[in-house]
Amino acid sequence: MATTSTLPASRTESDRRIRANGRVVYRGAANGIRPDPQEKVSNWAEAFRIVPEIGAVPGPWRNDVGPYLIEPMDALSPDDPCEHVVIIKPSQSGGSAVGENWLGFIMHRAPGPTMYVGPTVQAAIDWYQEKLEPTINATPVLSPARGGTVAPKRSRSGEGSTTKRVRFAGGFLLLSGANSAATLRQHSIRYMVRDDRSAWTDNADGEGDPKDLSDARLKTFRVFGLAKVLDVSSPKLKGADIDADYELGDKRRYYMACKRCGDLTDFVWEDIQKSDAAPFRCHLICPSCGMVHYEGDKADMISVASGACWIPTAPDADGEVPPKTIARGDIDAWRHRHTGRFIKSYAITGEFNIFERWDNLAQREKDAGDDPEKLQPFQNSDLGRGYEPKGEGPGWELLAARKNSEWSRGTMPAGVLYTTLTADVQADGLYWAILGWGPGKRTWHIDHGFLAGSTDVAFEGAWPKLDLIADRGISFGGIRIAPDLIGVDSGYNAEAVYSWVKRRHNALAFKGIEGWSKLPIGRAETPEVRKHGTSAGKARRHGMKVWLVGTYGLKAALMNFLARLPKEGDGGLPTGYQQFPGDTEEEYFRHLVSEFVATVEEKGEIKRVWQRKGPNHWLDCNIYAWALTYYANLWAWTEAQWEDRARELTEMARDVQPDIFGGPTGSVATALPATTTIEDTAADAAPAKQVRTGKSDDGLDALARLNR
Ligand SMILES: [Zn+2]
Repeated sequence: MATTSTLPASRTESDRRIRANGRVVYRGAANGIRPDPQEKVSNWAEAFRIVPEIGAVPGPWRNDVGPYLIEPMDALSPDDPCEHVVIIKPSQSGGSAVGENWLGFIMHRAPGPTMYVGPTVQAAIDWYQEKLEPTINATPVLSPARGGTVAPKRSRSGEGSTTKRVRFAGGFLLLSGANSAATLRQHSIRYMVRDDRSAWTDNADGEGDPKDLSDARLKTFRVFGLAKVLDVSSPKLKGADIDADYELGDKRRYYMACKRCGDLTDFVWEDIQKSDAAPFRCHLICPSCGMVHYEGDKADMISVASGACWIPTAPDADGEVPPKTIARGDIDAWRHRHTGRFIKSYAITGEFNIFERWDNLAQREKDAGDDPEKLQPFQNSDLGRGYEPKGEGPGWELLAARKNSEWSRGTMPAGVLYTTLTADVQADGLYWAILGWGPGKRTWHIDHGFLAGSTDVAFEGAWPKLDLIADRGISFGGIRIAPDLIGVDSGYNAEAVYSWVKRRHNALAFKGIEGWSKLPIGRAETPEVRKHGTSAGKARRHGMKVWLVGTYGLKAALMNFLARLPKEGDGGLPTGYQQFPGDTEEEYFRHLVSEFVATVEEKGEIKRVWQRKGPNHWLDCNIYAWALTYYANLWAWTEAQWEDRARELTEMARDVQPDIFGGPTGSVATALPATTTIEDTAADAAPAKQVRTGKSDDGLDALARLNR
């Protein structure tokens, strides 16, 4: 102790830890050289794993419950040369058990340095405590309480398990998070499970893609061909994240067997026949013999005994892919063919998920209706499919043909219950748009324009003109109302934008960010820094807030909405229906559909990105307007909140012109489709009135305080 007494206590502790880690690394590496057992993970699971009481099917693990889990498990066995297994899956499908069984196998039979990476460190710890630890405790060969291989929680010697590090005979399991670069930088790792990939950030602590950071840990064991990785997640967007990894692999699909003729078919959800309402009586028809299969037949159709199996569907060297239905005699040839791909990728899908009923899926599909924000979770979590957002709007000519000649720019038609003004900053001026909003994400393109002038100096050039637009408001039944919220893009000439936004209590500064996993409106940054004093360089406590807008998802939803037409017959308008005044400029329509999704390859990864085919400034104005609706939380408003709002607007207008709506209070909300034009009778000089609901007051007041 005398030699270290001059060092601070923390240094001593850290030295001790480094030495301890060194021992563990050495032990782990040594185990990598030991021959691995010739045992398959699925056989181990059936022989040793006990599913705890919290599981779907508690008791000894049975491979026949989810036969589609056997092959992915065995691809993780030491004698399979595969180094990378990818599983995309619905949320409740048994897919996660593949990872649990593999980890149990590692801890018992083939120990080595192991890492589990969740979306966050806390998610990894939660997963361990809720899923793996109960399994370890229930499985005698692993249970620390029954002399199993896993070490009990840290003992006094410091050699036991801790919250983030589970020790077992011959190895350890580190619990890491994609959000924490520090946890991804630990040790050389042989086995890795990367869970819930769709929820991962694409940048860990500003140090890069956590997938790349975690890959770096495997380098040493990869050299010796000993590393193995399992990526498992519900997919999110088609061609993004884990779905891109699936596409890079050999794309295995589980072919279900006909109970009569035995032919195998790669069924998809659309193949399921069903009635329009519950009971859906979902059924599948064999394309070969016409045999009808109901829910009760599913277990037989996916059983190993029936011949059901995984078939790689990636094209081979000749570009050949297997047919949708494979005759019984041809199964083996298709099953064992070579695709030349090194990743084994598996798509567990809703059609054969034994833990879900077809009728439940049909009900959820019906509940999702036509709202892309509900359809995506249905596709991802229920069907296990990547969602394909609309990558392109309709042609501008089609949009222009939908102009409403009874309504002109600058006036607010019945149905509009909330308004936004947004501006896009260019060097030579400001593009602006006023949008109106109503229940069901219906959108009215009330007005738009371009304000010429410089934008680099606060309060000069185009900026006073934007004040005029904001103060003029929107003509509504004899009065003028101010926009509820205002948003300005601060990606260019930021200082001038901040100066303008700060003077208005209901204005926000935005910055658009790319990427499919970003929220419509995320956290706010404080970009202004102190220039003087002891805290120079630090963010100003009461400085400007800049809100980050995830533009990708908003654009995809908008392209989807722009393509929607009123439903034939039933008189309703679809979610997100877009309406245009009769005097909308051609140029405005061109801007709205100026971008499309392109698939590009970047550093070997396939990515889907938005690209521009012409000027897009009013599209940007629209995207920021959508961000404002999320800021105002409009799409969570209850019917009562919309009605309150309608009543408020109706009363305001009635003060001036009593019988304007010719109906009972609240008729604004229900007057659809909005073809009624309210004549602009007010004097233009009248100042716009700020309309607020009780709901948005809090947000606005808070905002006012922040921006002062
Ligand atoms: Zn058949």
